[in-house]
Amino acid sequence: MPRVLLLWFGWLWWAVFPPASVGGSLPPPPPMTFNIGVFTLFRLQSVRLVSHERPARLELGGRSLTLPPHTTYRVVQTAGWLRVWQEAHLLAEARRLSLAAGDVTVEVVGRRTRLQRRFHGRLTITPADNCLRLVVTLPLEAATAAIVSAELPVTVPREAAKALAVVVRSYLLNHLGRHAGDGFDVCDSTHCQLFLGEQWVRQGISGVMRGECSPMVAQAVEETAGELLGASDGCLYPAYFTACCGGHTTTPEVAFGTGFDAAGNNRGIVCRWCHGARFFTWVRRVDRRVLAKALLPATTPTADVQIKVASRSPQGFVRSVSVTAGTRQVVLPNYRFRHLVGQQLGWNLVLSNRYVLEPQGEMLMLRGHGFGHQVGLCLAGAIAQARAGRDYRAILKYYFPTATYRQAKALACTLRLCVHTDAGHSLSQRESIAGAHTAGS
Ligand SMILES: [Zn+2]
Ligand SMILES: [Zn+2]
Repeated sequence: MPRVLLLWFGWLWWAVFPPASVGGSLPPPPPMTFNIGVFTLFRLQSVRLVSHERPARLELGGRSLTLPPHTTYRVVQTAGWLRVWQEAHLLAEARRLSLAAGDVTVEVVGRRTRLQRRFHGRLTITPADNCLRLVVTLPLEAATAAIVSAELPVTVPREAAKALAVVVRSYLLNHLGRHAGDGFDVCDSTHCQLFLGEQWVRQGISGVMRGECSPMVAQAVEETAGELLGASDGCLYPAYFTACCGGHTTTPEVAFGTGFDAAGNNRGIVCRWCHGARFFTWVRRVDRRVLAKALLPATTPTADVQIKVASRSPQGFVRSVSVTAGTRQVVLPNYRFRHLVGQQLGWNLVLSNRYVLEPQGEMLMLRGHGFGHQVGLCLAGAIAQARAGRDYRAILKYYFPTATYRQAKALACTLRLCVHTDAGHSLSQRESIAGAHTAGS
């Protein structure tokens, strides 16, 4: 039986047949936990674990090692083994290390930057593919709070944070096991949802950035605890969010090339709330031959380059782009076009899926609307709605007009969820190809 089915079956069994208790009161159900891969954008060879006021207990294979207060140990991957160092002294060697994540700050030191993160739950470190794999295991609600904190400034109204919390929670459950092949459920980058932990600090050439889970977000998550978006067929709704929809949202099928449109919402919705946002409209310029080289790497540069939108959805979202250079011509799906451009020329060139291309001499102008994949909840619009006094249920109804509300323990929901998780796998492969900022932007 697939792991995801086993997990859900176990949870369901507990919900329907809780164990008999002594004294008449039932124990609370076990918290639903997630495994989140952290620092996944790096191929780390070493990390530092820095203890706080109290000692931290490291479990290494069958033995334990105590990290005294205010001390740093370095964990290094060497030929498939973990080695724990204190300065020049090798303290231990193991295949696996785990500890209470809250007992330490995890530091990653690069040539120009230093990242420090504190996590909730349990941290496990193993060697994988000649680097370190770090996985944080934590309850659903704690993961939801950390993700909402990473996505929203603390100054936004709480109703916007509550709306996002419901979407983030639904997304997590829909993508359980998305990175099963990597040893965790979801990753910490915008490929899944941005997760920086409970506290984070980034020191780099552009200064110091800090963040932490705010009391406002904690309250927003608590006030919506267990709430999910359901589809009318009883399944979990395929909920996404985007930084700014640019006036109209689209569907997973248009944005990612696959996916399903739950409950008949197959066109997206008109959003009249984000027109004041920074990326409601955007303009970029690129040399046509540079762009053609990125899209057709084997082609020699030629003056005869044409790059055009080949097809659009009825709402104006680009479906495919044609590239002609000399005698070569290809038509790329838009998610592939955006991915190639992002990889070769940076992710700050084609900001969304709704844009026009205008030749201007040697250059190509890109004029677009919105930021991100433009599917689901528009964050800029949600914030504007909350500022206008609308509550989170009204905001969610606006962006997911056919969705219903469910609790995480709902029987039908848990059964159907497994089916949707499988659908999510095929969806996520396309998202990987697109390299799009799927959930987080
Ligand atoms: Zn991911
Ligand atoms: Zn919008």
